[in-house]
Amino acid sequence: MSATPAPHKPVVTRFAPSPTGNLHVGGARTALYAWVVAQQAKRNLGPFKDHSSGGSFILRFEDTDRARSSAASERQIAESLLWLGLDWDEGPAIQGVPGHETATGDRGPYRQSERLPIYHDHLARLRDAGHVYDDDGAVRFRVTQDVTFTDAVYGQVTVKADDIEDFVIMKAKADGDDLAFPTFHFAVVVDDALMDVTHVIRGVEHLANTPKHAALYDALGFPRPLWCHTPSIMNPDGSKMSKRDKAKAARKAAAERSWPAPPVTNIDGFHERWADFRDKKNDDAGIASIVLRSLGLGVPEIDASDFRATGYLPKVLLNYLSLLGWNPGGDLERFGLDQLVDAFDLSRINKANPKFDRDKLLEFNRLAIAEMTTEQFNDLLWAFCEPRYGTDGAEWSDAKKLIYSKAYHDRARVLSDPAKASSFLDPPDDEVAPSENHYDPKATKKWLMKNDTQGLTDLEKARDTLAAVGDDFAPEAIEAALEACVAEHGMKNLGSVAQPLRVAVSGSAVTPPIHLTLALIGKAETIRRIDACLAVFKDAAKAEG
Ligand code: GLU
Repeated sequence: MSATPAPHKPVVTRFAPSPTGNLHVGGARTALYAWVVAQQAKRNLGPFKDHSSGGSFILRFEDTDRARSSAASERQIAESLLWLGLDWDEGPAIQGVPGHETATGDRGPYRQSERLPIYHDHLARLRDAGHVYDDDGAVRFRVTQDVTFTDAVYGQVTVKADDIEDFVIMKAKADGDDLAFPTFHFAVVVDDALMDVTHVIRGVEHLANTPKHAALYDALGFPRPLWCHTPSIMNPDGSKMSKRDKAKAARKAAAERSWPAPPVTNIDGFHERWADFRDKKNDDAGIASIVLRSLGLGVPEIDASDFRATGYLPKVLLNYLSLLGWNPGGDLERFGLDQLVDAFDLSRINKANPKFDRDKLLEFNRLAIAEMTTEQFNDLLWAFCEPRYGTDGAEWSDAKKLIYSKAYHDRARVLSDPAKASSFLDPPDDEVAPSENHYDPKATKKWLMKNDTQGLTDLEKARDTLAAVGDDFAPEAIEAALEACVAEHGMKNLGSVAQPLRVAVSGSAVTPPIHLTLALIGKAETIRRIDACLAVFKDAAKAEG
């Protein structure tokens, strides 16, 4: 079958995850490609320009592994797909997922555990034709012929009958069940055929299963679909990108820094679990996060939900994922979903395993944020962040939130960056008396103490200037007052006051533009911090002098 079926044949693609975990980036990319092909068929775009009979994208849960499947995983996968914007035309009812609490489409049920009678009907057909035999309560398919099939990416594959075992298609019936469960191989073939799936797009780990599937299609008298296996996504070191990477990163960081388990944690059995984890007896992602966070390190994002939590934009992640194994040709790298639907061609997927370049993704995200208006950034940022509370314990006003967004717009690469960079805005800890420890020594030396404490002198002038600014302490008023102060006292430039002020209010020489920074801190707290700083360093200067 060619990549574009006859124009009268509707194109049907599907994403068929096993609900045994979160949506991994590899799964997200597979879902993206399947979604795009259905969109192309719907909208007569790309290789489907002359196609006239539409397209559909199906979500189907392959829950034949009952011990490992869960409703929570189904919900997480569905939520991640919706966050990415990859909605489906047909799929099961999923409780707790808005818009999908009832099933859509008439080719269901869309959950394999709800389709058992269907598999038994088709098993009966195979049995009548002599294709199967019983073995210890299970049923095996008898492989008698060599199999040849063509994959859109990997080309023609031939496997000899002798090299394909007689494989189980129906498991032994478990106690208490009315009907036995099929294996993945049988269920996937019956479902794809009965759901009219034309393009089976899935990860390359299933390429080795495909000879079995092709043999089943033939024995069942179903027309074969187009198979399109997508290459695995690799880490830069050549290992496969997997959820174990979180554990690997945590073990490495812990070993490098001789990380001891924290003395107190409120997590049951943490110490035993940590010891097992360290000895590679488990790869618990929760432990990995605790270890990495306690070392001030980020957890490597693997699942779509990880990228969401870090504050990547879904359209950027989709753009980047689309490039893992495919490209539109030419220099074009950054594009939106509509452009992707226009340009995508699954016959151009490359079989070399692509490497996941985190720096490149981060740069794509930074650029996308920089290209927004501050208002757009403000909306996204505050939808992402928890509400923030000021030094007076009150939730921030919309005006203050906008000042914050202005302050961080050009330095945010992901939506979680501003919160990390702005902890100095948090309410002060009244229990701790101000001391030199609050200030970065390099910054104090350069911006307060140098040239006979010139910075402290300028800071005092800035303090008096700021004390005279109105109580609403608007950024524009602060900026005008500081500029006037610089001119009046013949200082070099705005930095003469801005740098000492930064050290005084944040302890470091790096903050957003000074007028925005001070407006966020508020007048009373700004003055209080300046006074505390002056007190600490004037004493220090006296002691030295
Ligand atoms: N349920 C399979 C998996 O999650 C997908 C199989 C397929 O797409 O055909 O790996």
